[in-house]
Amino acid sequence: MTDHDHHDHHHHDDHDHDHSELSPMDARVRALETILVAKGYVDPAALDVLIETYETKVGPHNGARVVAKSWVDPAYRARLLADATAAVAELGFAGRQGEHLVAVENTPDTHNMVVCTLCSCYPWPVLGLPPVWYKSAPYRAKAVRDPRGVLADFGVTLPAGKAVKVWDSTAEIRYLVLPERPAGTEGWDEARLAALVSRDSMIGTGLARSPEAVA
Ligand code: FE
Repeated sequence: MTDHDHHDHHHHDDHDHDHSELSPMDARVRALETILVAKGYVDPAALDVLIETYETKVGPHNGARVVAKSWVDPAYRARLLADATAAVAELGFAGRQGEHLVAVENTPDTHNMVVCTLCSCYPWPVLGLPPVWYKSAPYRAKAVRDPRGVLADFGVTLPAGKAVKVWDSTAEIRYLVLPERPAGTEGWDEARLAALVSRDSMIGTGLARSPEAVA
């Protein structure tokens, strides 16, 4: 060890308190989990499975695969628009909050945006857990009243002639927006296309990325 390293680390030997660096939020979650487990409300093993599932298996990468397939496979796209729950299950995506999934397609004439005005209903199996802003009162109110204003807040400007349709999710129906396939992606395979499909483009607060954006 050099003198410099030794200097950087000299505090280590002087302290006997716990040096694990939990963020305040992590610490609160840890404390809450401890209480819930102690009181018998939750099984820690079940919690771990749930957390692992939503950290690694479920997320917008699932929805991105669905959208990419819909761009290259017209028969799949037709099945998706007819029965999205069944079509996403073909790719192995199913589960809570995805039982009645409806896909809505963006076209040159129409842009779709999804909100849950009552709470935060969201298609978990294809998008994972909702972003914080999706659950916020300002988004829920403004998406209905001023969808173009919301798009502007997200940095999206649509052509003046394009209609914006807002879909209000419920406990019964969850929506998945199929963004338009970006120009300049002719001949791309599904995996490459999926990288262009952002979470926000599937909520309708964004567009699919351009090929230049991922080059
Ligand atoms: Fe809701």
